[in-house]
Amino acid sequence: MLFYRKLSRYIFPLLLIVAVTLFKLSFNELLGARTPFLLYTAVIVATIWYSGWAIGLITNFVCVGIVDYYFIQPYHSFIMPSRIGIQVAVFTGQNLLVAVMGYSMKRALKKSEAAENKFRLLIEQACDLLVLRNEVGKAIYVSPKVKEIFGYSPQEYEAQIIDRLYTPKSLTEYKGSVEQILAIPGGCSFVKLQFIRKDGSYGWLEGEVFNYLTEPGIYAMVSHFRDVTERIGIEAQKDSFIGIASHELKTPLTSIKAYLQVMESKAKRHDDPFFKDALTKVNHQIKKMTVMINGFLNLSRFESGKLHLDKETFNLNDLVQEIIDENRLIMSGHEIDFKPVSDVYVYADRDKIGSVISNLISNAAKYSVNGKVINIATEITNKHVQISVQDFGMGIKPEDKKRLFERYYRVEAEQNKIISGFGIGLYLSAEIIKLHDGSIWVESEIGKGSIFYFTISSVVDMA
Ligand code: ADP
Repeated sequence: MLFYRKLSRYIFPLLLIVAVTLFKLSFNELLGARTPFLLYTAVIVATIWYSGWAIGLITNFVCVGIVDYYFIQPYHSFIMPSRIGIQVAVFTGQNLLVAVMGYSMKRALKKSEAAENKFRLLIEQACDLLVLRNEVGKAIYVSPKVKEIFGYSPQEYEAQIIDRLYTPKSLTEYKGSVEQILAIPGGCSFVKLQFIRKDGSYGWLEGEVFNYLTEPGIYAMVSHFRDVTERIGIEAQKDSFIGIASHELKTPLTSIKAYLQVMESKAKRHDDPFFKDALTKVNHQIKKMTVMINGFLNLSRFESGKLHLDKETFNLNDLVQEIIDENRLIMSGHEIDFKPVSDVYVYADRDKIGSVISNLISNAAKYSVNGKVINIATEITNKHVQISVQDFGMGIKPEDKKRLFERYYRVEAEQNKIISGFGIGLYLSAEIIKLHDGSIWVESEIGKGSIFYFTISSVVDMA
């Protein structure tokens, strides 16, 4: 095999020389004597590429000999007029130059091919699934990882319509996220999607979508996904455990509360200061426990899609005042200043909006040990009612602000280790406000304090 390869290196230039010489001889009259070296440059460059430098150089001199013999006067003799020497030197130099240029190009091409291969391999072997979709949502590239996750080959996946790949709810979410960043070149959106495998089973993907539609060389919406089916399964088990446990805890708590009421009325009759004080403290602790258990119950209801709104029309200022009074009983050391707008009535779930306000107030107190004042205000803005809760405590870093409303998210700070909490209050608050078509956000400066705001859209001003 090696022998034939070696032989072909000599035969290749030989065949080229014969072909070019025969061609030139046949059309000699037409071509004339002015371009004796025509076509031989191509022979030499091709030889250098195919057979290497040494054979290329030999070919160069063979060609000079042939040109001199057949195409330079006197014809059919190797005598060369001295003026032709310069032409031969230029011919040889130009061949070398073209060959060097070609050789450098070949090397550069090889290098970029190697780099491209490296990146392609990296993408193909990466744990993430990479999907590129064009502006109309058609898949134009999908990494081979798709076979492992979806069960489809990349070609099969690209041929599928997107509706077959995701559940209707996830598809709406996906399209919503894409729409959000459509007008923002380079914009990124986080997605969590339930997908449908080739065999019809379901799984979960998590990842980011980037808008690179105007990025030269990409021109696509780029998504990278991770298969998080296993983690979501474990989370579902945990949620169901929390749901069952908090439900079971509610029953004994209700009877403790009933007994407590009886004991309180008995203590009042006997006017025993010790029992009265002890019962007030027990009552506060029971209230704290109730809030905690209700939080877990709501979390598990929300996760299983069973958190329903029970809407009614009520005076929002009255509700805020009620929550403030309840919180005053259980927190000491903070002063609450409430600035209400003129009476405002909203059509919302009173209990759930109450739990959001309560959570914001108790957080304001928990995370501002040094700040003594908590300002609460209601305001009407653009047919929405806005509630704000301000504290002068530790504040929140910008990078934490983004994640504050995620489930189980707690800021990792030394001071926070001694403050109890599960990181579900703000998550639930955000979900409750979302269910009311409202928005919730925070403004904060580290060391100076925070203001949490939320708005609810449906306002019925009955004043
Ligand atoms: P929890 O307070 O039970 O940990 P939350 O969901 O209510 O859970 O709050 C999530 C995290 O947000 C808290 O752990 C805390 O780090 C931060 N946080 C919430 N409210 C404030 C606040 N007013 N000031 C500073 N940090 C806050």
